[in-house]
Amino acid sequence: MHTAALAEMAKTDARFADWSYLPFDVQPEDLAAALELLRERGFLGVNLTVPHKVHAAALVSELDRAARDAGAVNTLLAGDGAWRGFNTDGYGLSAGIREDLGRELRGAAVVLLGAGGAARAAAVQCLRSGCAALWIVNRTSSSLNALLAHLAPLAGAVPVRGAAHGSALAGIPAGALVINATSAGLRPDDPAPADLRSFPGVAAVYDMIYNPPRTRLLAQAQELGMANANGLGMLVHQGAKSLEIWTGVPAAKVAPAMRAAAAKALGY
Ligand code: NDP
Repeated sequence: MHTAALAEMAKTDARFADWSYLPFDVQPEDLAAALELLRERGFLGVNLTVPHKVHAAALVSELDRAARDAGAVNTLLAGDGAWRGFNTDGYGLSAGIREDLGRELRGAAVVLLGAGGAARAAAVQCLRSGCAALWIVNRTSSSLNALLAHLAPLAGAVPVRGAAHGSALAGIPAGALVINATSAGLRPDDPAPADLRSFPGVAAVYDMIYNPPRTRLLAQAQELGMANANGLGMLVHQGAKSLEIWTGVPAAKVAPAMRAAAAKALGY
């Protein structure tokens, strides 16, 4: 995805012909040393994935607002003798939902499934975007409660309610959006993370999972006539925004090449 974007960018700016995006497998206990080494070796930027996103937030000189609110970092930019931390996951979620469902988080009533790292980023993005109301449904009450506590100072006047996995939700306004941020659906025999018939009022479903491309949840949404999309757009747009941070090239300009490359690699 990034290599395709750099090739596209090199067509109009020869500098990018020499750039590379490389994967490194780093153990959690080696993260600080690895980041130091990458900086010394002249790397301009880094993307981080689980389990590094939270730990890295303590290893940078400054955090952008999105990373501060989420308490997690997925993008680093080399600064003066230190890394600066950013979080583009929320941007990716908003852009993916806009592109594939034609909907905005602003003003939306959102039912969020999950309370892990991805759910935290999604909940923060919903609140930062000005959603109208947020329900969070999770299997384990301790992680649900921890997420609700994290969100309390960010919620302002937006009602944020927790609900147990499997419970029916009454009072969701018509037109609501479900976002799946659980990992239920990654494997073919996984159960769906929720029965959409328990959420009257829901009109659209966004599943952050993109591999497989059609989870049980999305299949049910389709059967029930709800608009639905998988998380490929989120993946693409968070990556495009990271590239913008490193290069200054607008995310929207490179996203189509990244999407085409990702879809091809995933066999869509
Ligand atoms: P975590 O491990 O931090 O959280 C997993 C969440 O899934 C928890 O809330 C867990 O609930 C819930 N869960 C797991 N299995 C089930 C099940 N069988 N039924 C109900 N709930 C379940 O993972 P992440 O938050 O990092 O990632 C979650 C998903 O989001 C992954 O599928 C990941 O691929 C996707 N993702 C997609 C991105 C994209 O760009 N499209 C970006 C980031 C993530 P409990 O607390 O009860 O264990």
